[in-house]
Amino acid sequence: MSQTKTVVAINGDGIGREIVAAARRIVDAAVTKDNITIEWVEKKAGGEAIDAYGEPLPAETIKACETADAVLLGAVGGPQWDDVAPSIRPEKAILGLRKALGLFCNLRPVRIFKALQDYSPLKPELVQNVDFVIVRELTGGIYFGEREEAEGEGPNELAWDKETYHRYEVERIMDVAIETAAKRRGKITSVDKANVLASSRLWRKIAQEKAAANPEIDMDYLYVDNTAMQLVVNPGQFDVIVTTNLFGDILSDEGAVVSGSLGLLPSASIGTGTALYEPIHGSAPDIAGRGIANPLGTILSAAMMCRYSLNAPKAADAIEAAVEKALEAGYRTGDIYKDGMQRVDTNGMTAAVLQYI
Ligand code: NAD
Repeated sequence: MSQTKTVVAINGDGIGREIVAAARRIVDAAVTKDNITIEWVEKKAGGEAIDAYGEPLPAETIKACETADAVLLGAVGGPQWDDVAPSIRPEKAILGLRKALGLFCNLRPVRIFKALQDYSPLKPELVQNVDFVIVRELTGGIYFGEREEAEGEGPNELAWDKETYHRYEVERIMDVAIETAAKRRGKITSVDKANVLASSRLWRKIAQEKAAANPEIDMDYLYVDNTAMQLVVNPGQFDVIVTTNLFGDILSDEGAVVSGSLGLLPSASIGTGTALYEPIHGSAPDIAGRGIANPLGTILSAAMMCRYSLNAPKAADAIEAAVEKALEAGYRTGDIYKDGMQRVDTNGMTAAVLQYI
């Protein structure tokens, strides 16, 4: 008897419907290896929910997510909703889900497939061994701190934002980094700005305590400015990078650029409740509805979902290997197409991956 896992599928907007449909086909085929079947529950969020219910994150979507084994999301947003009231903007759906599900950690793996090494803007010799994960704190720090919009007048007009971190917030993100590193090469780079910021000094103190308590982990400490440079000078040195919300936001986009292929990068947001999996790119309104979107970022996010939330490690390995084989065989969607390759649309790429599962 196979075990049933419940996954909430949120298409969202733009290319969301196309890429989530592709990932569902792949997951359904792959999880049979772990003797699992998926019960997909479709719910709305983002612009499509604003159109249907007048709000970006309906209570029924939250409820379904809370009781599911995992959530798979396409992307939200688009020009149609640019003028809605700030309180119901499509992105509020993502922030609302993070809050409702207690998602305090974002995992962003950056791996450069051999077949795509020449897509990186960096020299080929620099990207040969690039395979790292950024572990970003997601619900604390300056994005959630107190702030004051402009106060005072003239040259004294002033605005400020406050960066705060509690011990428990740093400890739990360090624990995720340690757990992640233990399953990889055992190396963590903790990134802060401890030479200037008090909140960073607490961050570093706790990182050092965690390193002392976990001698099997090799932890080093870098300032964020140096990390930004190292990511382009020698990205192969990193295994797990753990950092704050603000620094992680910036460094994870730099990491994405290093890979040179936005459409391929997955992410997971994990925490105290159900985890959420989504590609790092947006809803690509410019190509929506044409069936040409690259589904690989969503398919690789679904592989992470199999590994971390569905207890389907064979499926996760099979999906990642199948993506690599499809790329090696020369299949390319338009966004990563080069002369001499086999140009395919979303369905064509999905079929190419499926044949190697
Ligand atoms: P985007 O990532 O949607 O698109 C940037 C460029 O990359 C576009 O040219 C697009 O066609 C291309 N692209 C992106 N994903 C692709 C894929 N899978 N296959 C082929 N090409 C792909 O970023 P944007 O244009 O800045 O944002 C568009 C909308 O998406 C905005 O409303 C934005 O707010 C939203 N957005 C949502 C999320 C999210 O849901 N997490 C993240 C980023 C942006």
